Amino acid sequence: MKIFISADMEGISGVATNMQLKKNDEYQRFRKLMTQDVNAAIAGAFDGGATEVTVADGHGNMSNILVEELDERARLVSGNNRVLCQLAGLDDSFDGIMFVGHHGREAGSERAVISHTLAGVAVAEMKINGKVVGETEMNAGAAGFFGIPAILATGDDAYIEEVTETLPEIEGAVVKFAVDRFAAELLHPSKARQIIREKAKRGVERAKEIPPYVVDGPVTFEIEFKGTNQAMMTTTLPTVELIGPKTIRFTCEDYITAYKHMWGAVIIGMAATNGVLGHANA
Ligand SMILES: [Zn+2]
Repeated sequence: MKIFISADMEGISGVATNMQLKKNDEYQRFRKLMTQDVNAAIAGAFDGGATEVTVADGHGNMSNILVEELDERARLVSGNNRVLCQLAGLDDSFDGIMFVGHHGREAGSERAVISHTLAGVAVAEMKINGKVVGETEMNAGAAGFFGIPAILATGDDAYIEEVTETLPEIEGAVVKFAVDRFAAELLHPSKARQIIREKAKRGVERAKEIPPYVVDGPVTFEIEFKGTNQAMMTTTLPTVELIGPKTIRFTCEDYITAYKHMWGAVIIGMAATNGVLGHANA
Protein backbone atom coordinates (compact mmCIF):
# COMPACT_ATOMS: atom_id res chain seq x y z
CA MET A 1 0.00 0.00 0.00
CA LYS A 2 1.50 3.31 -1.19
CA ILE A 3 0.86 6.57 0.62
CA PHE A 4 1.62 10.10 -0.64
CA ILE A 5 2.19 12.96 1.80
CA SER A 6 1.82 16.57 0.69
CA ALA A 7 3.65 18.57 3.37
CA ASP A 8 3.18 22.26 4.00
CA MET A 9 4.48 24.40 6.87
CA GLU A 10 1.81 26.78 8.14
CA GLY A 11 -0.12 23.99 9.88
CA ILE A 12 2.92 22.38 11.50
CA SER A 13 2.93 21.90 15.29
CA GLY A 14 4.42 24.93 17.00
CA VAL A 15 3.91 27.38 14.11
CA ALA A 16 1.93 30.49 15.08
CA THR A 17 3.06 33.26 12.75
CA ASN A 18 4.54 33.59 9.28
CA MET A 19 7.79 35.17 10.51
CA GLN A 20 8.78 31.71 11.73
CA LEU A 21 8.69 30.38 8.17
CA LYS A 22 10.88 32.93 6.47
CA LYS A 23 14.61 32.55 5.93
CA ASN A 24 15.86 33.77 9.32
CA ASP A 25 17.23 32.27 12.54
CA GLU A 26 13.77 31.11 13.62
CA TYR A 27 13.24 29.21 10.35
CA GLN A 28 15.79 26.49 11.17
CA ARG A 29 13.78 25.50 14.27
CA PHE A 30 10.60 25.23 12.26
CA ARG A 31 12.18 23.13 9.50
CA LYS A 32 12.99 20.63 12.22
CA LEU A 33 9.45 20.73 13.61
CA MET A 34 8.08 20.25 10.08
CA THR A 35 10.30 17.21 9.56
CA GLN A 36 9.14 15.76 12.88
CA ASP A 37 5.43 16.19 12.07
CA VAL A 38 6.03 14.51 8.70
CA ASN A 39 7.87 11.69 10.47
CA ALA A 40 4.87 11.20 12.77
CA ALA A 41 2.62 10.83 9.72
CA ILE A 42 5.06 8.41 8.09
CA ALA A 43 5.22 6.32 11.28
CA GLY A 44 1.42 6.26 11.49
CA ALA A 45 1.19 5.28 7.82
CA PHE A 46 3.47 2.27 8.37
CA ASP A 47 1.61 1.41 11.61
CA GLY A 48 -1.58 1.27 9.53
CA GLY A 49 -0.17 -1.01 6.85
CA ALA A 50 1.61 1.24 4.34
CA THR A 51 4.53 -0.35 2.51
CA GLU A 52 5.81 2.75 0.68
CA VAL A 53 5.60 6.45 1.50
CA THR A 54 6.53 9.40 -0.75
CA VAL A 55 6.65 12.89 0.74
CA ALA A 56 6.43 16.04 -1.39
CA ASP A 57 7.71 19.18 0.33
CA GLY A 58 5.20 21.86 -0.70
CA HIS A 59 6.01 25.05 1.21
CA GLY A 60 7.75 28.15 -0.12
CA ASN A 61 10.65 27.06 -2.28
CA MET A 62 9.70 23.44 -1.54
CA SER A 63 12.98 22.45 0.10
CA ASN A 64 12.30 22.83 3.82
CA ILE A 65 12.26 19.24 5.09
CA LEU A 66 15.61 18.04 6.45
CA VAL A 67 16.18 14.89 4.41
CA GLU A 68 18.86 13.61 6.79
CA GLU A 69 16.33 13.66 9.64
CA LEU A 70 13.44 12.17 7.66
CA ASP A 71 12.21 8.65 8.45
CA GLU A 72 14.47 6.51 6.27
CA ARG A 73 11.58 4.41 5.00
CA ALA A 74 10.23 7.40 3.01
CA ARG A 75 11.30 9.13 -0.18
CA LEU A 76 11.30 12.91 -0.49
CA VAL A 77 10.40 15.12 -3.46
CA SER A 78 12.29 18.38 -2.86
CA GLY A 79 12.88 21.48 -5.03
CA ASN A 80 10.43 23.71 -6.84
CA ASN A 81 10.35 23.34 -10.64
CA ARG A 82 7.34 21.05 -10.68
CA VAL A 83 4.56 20.72 -13.20
CA LEU A 84 2.31 19.19 -10.53
CA CYS A 85 3.17 21.78 -7.88
CA GLN A 86 2.56 20.37 -4.37
CA LEU A 87 1.74 16.96 -5.82
CA ALA A 88 4.90 16.21 -7.83
CA GLY A 89 5.44 12.45 -7.78
CA LEU A 90 1.74 11.56 -7.46
CA ASP A 91 0.23 9.03 -9.88
CA ASP A 92 -2.46 6.35 -9.86
CA SER A 93 -0.22 3.82 -8.09
CA PHE A 94 -0.93 5.47 -4.69
CA ASP A 95 -3.69 4.33 -2.31
CA GLY A 96 -4.09 7.40 -0.11
CA ILE A 97 -2.97 11.01 0.22
CA MET A 98 -2.19 12.89 3.44
CA PHE A 99 -2.01 16.67 3.93
CA VAL A 100 0.43 17.41 6.74
CA GLY A 101 0.91 20.96 8.02
CA HIS A 102 -1.63 22.52 5.67
CA HIS A 103 -3.72 25.62 6.37
CA GLY A 104 -7.01 27.44 5.80
CA ARG A 105 -7.81 29.20 2.55
CA GLU A 106 -7.52 32.92 1.86
CA ALA A 107 -10.81 34.56 2.97
CA GLY A 108 -11.90 31.44 4.81
CA SER A 109 -12.16 31.45 8.61
CA GLU A 110 -11.19 34.76 10.18
CA ARG A 111 -9.05 32.81 12.69
CA ALA A 112 -7.21 30.30 10.47
CA VAL A 113 -3.43 30.51 11.03
CA ILE A 114 -1.48 32.04 8.09
CA SER A 115 -4.47 31.48 5.81
CA HIS A 116 -3.85 31.86 2.07
CA THR A 117 -4.41 29.99 -1.17
CA LEU A 118 -1.27 28.67 -2.87
CA ALA A 119 0.48 32.03 -3.29
CA GLY A 120 -0.36 34.69 -0.74
CA VAL A 121 1.23 37.38 -2.88
CA ALA A 122 -0.99 36.68 -5.87
CA VAL A 123 -4.20 34.73 -5.21
CA ALA A 124 -7.24 36.31 -3.52
CA GLU A 125 -9.71 33.52 -4.25
CA MET A 126 -9.86 30.26 -6.17
CA LYS A 127 -13.05 28.58 -7.40
CA ILE A 128 -13.45 25.21 -9.06
CA ASN A 129 -16.75 24.75 -10.92
CA GLY A 130 -18.13 27.68 -8.92
CA LYS A 131 -17.05 26.38 -5.48
CA VAL A 132 -14.50 28.33 -3.41
CA VAL A 133 -11.60 26.03 -2.50
CA GLY A 134 -8.42 26.03 -0.47
CA GLU A 135 -5.25 24.13 -1.32
CA THR A 136 -6.34 20.91 0.32
CA GLU A 137 -9.62 20.61 -1.61
CA MET A 138 -7.84 21.63 -4.82
CA ASN A 139 -5.14 18.97 -4.30
CA ALA A 140 -7.68 16.37 -3.16
CA GLY A 141 -9.43 16.83 -6.52
CA ALA A 142 -6.18 16.02 -8.34
CA ALA A 143 -5.73 12.92 -6.17
CA GLY A 144 -9.38 12.05 -6.88
CA PHE A 145 -8.64 12.19 -10.61
CA PHE A 146 -6.22 9.31 -9.97
CA GLY A 147 -8.78 7.50 -7.78
CA ILE A 148 -6.88 8.28 -4.56
CA PRO A 149 -8.77 9.19 -1.35
CA ALA A 150 -7.70 12.03 0.97
CA ILE A 151 -7.16 10.24 4.29
CA LEU A 152 -5.45 12.73 6.64
CA ALA A 153 -5.24 16.47 7.25
CA THR A 154 -3.14 18.04 10.03
CA GLY A 155 -3.20 21.68 11.10
CA ASP A 156 -5.19 24.15 13.19
CA ASP A 157 -8.81 23.59 14.25
CA ALA A 158 -10.25 26.19 11.83
CA TYR A 159 -8.47 24.51 8.90
CA ILE A 160 -9.69 21.04 9.88
CA GLU A 161 -13.24 22.36 10.18
CA GLU A 162 -12.93 23.94 6.71
CA VAL A 163 -11.67 20.85 4.86
CA THR A 164 -14.14 18.55 6.59
CA GLU A 165 -16.99 20.43 4.87
CA THR A 166 -15.78 19.15 1.49
CA LEU A 167 -14.01 15.98 2.66
CA PRO A 168 -16.25 14.67 5.46
CA GLU A 169 -14.47 11.29 5.75
CA ILE A 170 -10.92 12.64 6.14
CA GLU A 171 -9.10 11.98 9.44
CA GLY A 172 -8.33 15.37 10.97
CA ALA A 173 -5.45 15.90 13.42
CA VAL A 174 -5.81 19.21 15.28
CA VAL A 175 -2.31 20.24 16.43
CA LYS A 176 -3.20 23.80 17.55
CA PHE A 177 -6.13 26.13 18.02
CA ALA A 178 -6.36 29.18 15.80
CA VAL A 179 -6.57 32.54 17.58
CA ASP A 180 -5.87 34.91 14.71
CA ARG A 181 -4.19 34.73 11.30
CA PHE A 182 -0.90 35.33 13.14
CA ALA A 183 -1.54 33.69 16.53
CA ALA A 184 -2.36 30.21 17.81
CA GLU A 185 -2.77 28.28 21.03
CA LEU A 186 -0.27 25.48 20.61
CA LEU A 187 -0.17 21.91 21.83
CA HIS A 188 3.27 20.69 22.79
CA PRO A 189 4.83 19.26 19.60
CA SER A 190 5.30 15.83 21.25
CA LYS A 191 1.60 15.66 22.05
CA ALA A 192 0.68 16.92 18.57
CA ARG A 193 2.88 14.27 16.95
CA GLN A 194 1.14 11.52 18.92
CA ILE A 195 -2.19 12.73 17.54
CA ILE A 196 -0.79 12.88 13.98
CA ARG A 197 0.58 9.35 14.25
CA GLU A 198 -2.70 7.92 15.56
CA LYS A 199 -4.82 9.71 12.94
CA ALA A 200 -2.42 8.71 10.14
CA LYS A 201 -2.67 5.07 11.17
CA ARG A 202 -6.44 5.28 11.24
CA GLY A 203 -6.51 7.01 7.83
CA VAL A 204 -4.49 4.23 6.22
CA GLU A 205 -6.65 1.56 7.87
CA ARG A 206 -9.78 3.29 6.51
CA ALA A 207 -8.31 4.20 3.08
CA LYS A 208 -10.37 1.63 1.18
CA GLU A 209 -13.64 2.90 2.62
CA ILE A 210 -12.98 6.64 2.08
CA PRO A 211 -14.31 7.77 -1.31
CA PRO A 212 -11.89 9.74 -3.54
CA TYR A 213 -12.95 13.37 -4.10
CA VAL A 214 -13.87 13.29 -7.77
CA VAL A 215 -14.72 16.46 -9.71
CA ASP A 216 -16.21 15.52 -13.08
CA GLY A 217 -15.04 17.40 -16.19
CA PRO A 218 -15.15 19.79 -17.85
CA VAL A 219 -13.42 21.64 -15.03
CA THR A 220 -13.60 25.42 -14.78
CA PHE A 221 -11.22 27.38 -12.58
CA GLU A 222 -11.84 31.00 -11.62
CA ILE A 223 -8.90 32.78 -10.03
CA GLU A 224 -9.23 36.19 -8.46
CA PHE A 225 -5.78 37.72 -8.21
CA LYS A 226 -4.73 40.44 -5.77
CA GLY A 227 -3.70 42.83 -8.55
CA THR A 228 -4.97 43.68 -12.03
CA ASN A 229 -1.37 43.31 -13.26
CA GLN A 230 -1.31 39.67 -12.19
CA ALA A 231 -4.65 38.81 -13.84
CA MET A 232 -3.87 40.63 -17.10
CA MET A 233 -0.57 38.84 -17.74
CA THR A 234 -2.24 35.43 -17.58
CA THR A 235 -4.27 36.38 -20.68
CA THR A 236 -1.09 35.66 -22.66
CA LEU A 237 -2.49 32.11 -22.53
CA PRO A 238 -5.19 31.71 -25.23
CA THR A 239 -7.42 29.66 -22.91
CA VAL A 240 -7.68 32.44 -20.32
CA GLU A 241 -10.64 34.81 -20.25
CA LEU A 242 -10.59 37.97 -18.13
CA ILE A 243 -14.01 38.15 -16.41
CA GLY A 244 -13.29 41.00 -14.00
CA PRO A 245 -10.46 43.49 -13.39
CA LYS A 246 -8.58 40.92 -11.28
CA THR A 247 -10.41 37.69 -12.13
CA ILE A 248 -9.75 35.09 -14.81
CA ARG A 249 -11.52 31.94 -15.94
CA PHE A 250 -10.50 28.92 -18.00
CA THR A 251 -11.96 25.47 -18.65
CA CYS A 252 -10.24 22.15 -19.36
CA GLU A 253 -11.75 18.79 -20.21
CA ASP A 254 -10.32 16.97 -17.21
CA TYR A 255 -9.19 17.83 -13.70
CA ILE A 256 -5.48 17.15 -13.97
CA THR A 257 -5.13 19.28 -17.13
CA ALA A 258 -7.04 22.08 -15.37
CA TYR A 259 -4.83 21.71 -12.27
CA LYS A 260 -1.65 22.14 -14.34
CA HIS A 261 -3.23 25.10 -16.14
CA MET A 262 -4.07 26.67 -12.77
CA TRP A 263 -0.47 26.30 -11.64
CA GLY A 264 0.82 27.83 -14.88
CA ALA A 265 -1.54 30.80 -14.45
CA VAL A 266 -0.48 31.30 -10.82
CA ILE A 267 3.21 31.17 -11.82
CA ILE A 268 2.55 33.93 -14.37
CA GLY A 269 0.57 35.90 -11.78
CA MET A 270 3.42 35.64 -9.25
CA ALA A 271 5.97 36.67 -11.88
CA ALA A 272 3.83 39.71 -12.78
CA THR A 273 3.65 40.96 -9.19
CA ASN A 274 6.51 43.41 -9.67
CA GLY A 275 6.74 43.36 -13.46
CA VAL A 276 7.80 40.18 -15.26
CA LEU A 277 11.10 41.59 -16.50
CA GLY A 278 12.01 43.91 -13.71
CA HIS A 279 10.78 45.84 -10.76
CA ALA A 280 7.67 47.89 -11.26
CA ASN A 281 6.25 49.94 -8.41
CA ALA A 282 3.41 48.18 -6.65
ZN1 LIG B 1 3.04 26.92 2.85
